[in-house]
Amino acid sequence: MEIISLKSGSKGNSCLVLSGATKILVDCGISGKSAAAALGKNGVAPEELAGILVTHEHSDHIKGIGVMMRRYGIPVYANSATWAAMTGDLGKLNSDYIKIFEKAEPFSVGDIGVTPFEIPHDAAYPVGYRFDDGHDSGAVATDMGVLTEEVMRTIAGCRTVLLESNHDINMLEAGSYPYPLKQRIRGSLGHLSNDDAGKGAELLVKMGSEKIILGHLSEENNYPGLAFETVKSALQRAGILVDRDLMLSVAT
Ligand SMILES: [Zn+2]
Ligand SMILES: [Zn+2]
Repeated sequence: MEIISLKSGSKGNSCLVLSGATKILVDCGISGKSAAAALGKNGVAPEELAGILVTHEHSDHIKGIGVMMRRYGIPVYANSATWAAMTGDLGKLNSDYIKIFEKAEPFSVGDIGVTPFEIPHDAAYPVGYRFDDGHDSGAVATDMGVLTEEVMRTIAGCRTVLLESNHDINMLEAGSYPYPLKQRIRGSLGHLSNDDAGKGAELLVKMGSEKIILGHLSEENNYPGLAFETVKSALQRAGILVDRDLMLSVAT
């Protein structure tokens, strides 16, 4: 199983999950045109996608969903609360491609078993996803104010994890964002900091993860080298070495 980030950050999120013949997208927060181009760079035609899974209705996750459904006939999966919250933003929809699951109930898309899990974030019913194909496992866990026990329990043991490393606390504090927005980001329904990602990565590696991709970086309050070094140092303090014990990268 492979998780490939097509776009990550405050300006749009989408990643490709590949397992055997099954290809799925998690979120499409970029235009349909950009998504098709990014898929093409990875040798995937949009028509090959077995589905798009939506984590939550924020625009950086759903911008291209309507176009992808209409243009390429791709089924879109979201829970009923998320469908209710995003339907008005997607344009005209063909009901054949609307797939609804209830809260965090597991289901399958092609050869991939999908387990949604609730995440603490300010949206209708936001979820992350765990994937299992019988041989390998992966998870997408971004847009979380805190790493809850439920999240850690669900993604424990996943070989590959796309983990949020949204902001550097000092850059956020000193930065130009208005106070209420700063409060929202660092709040329990906001986003994980680089330090939070460091703690999460330590736990994940101790539970068997081998590959961690840091994602959803803020363009204002973070940069790839800082996220990488912060998490790498946190791991080092716990006796875990990048390249020896895990592969660490940043989705930009
Ligand atoms: Zn969000
Ligand atoms: Zn987001």
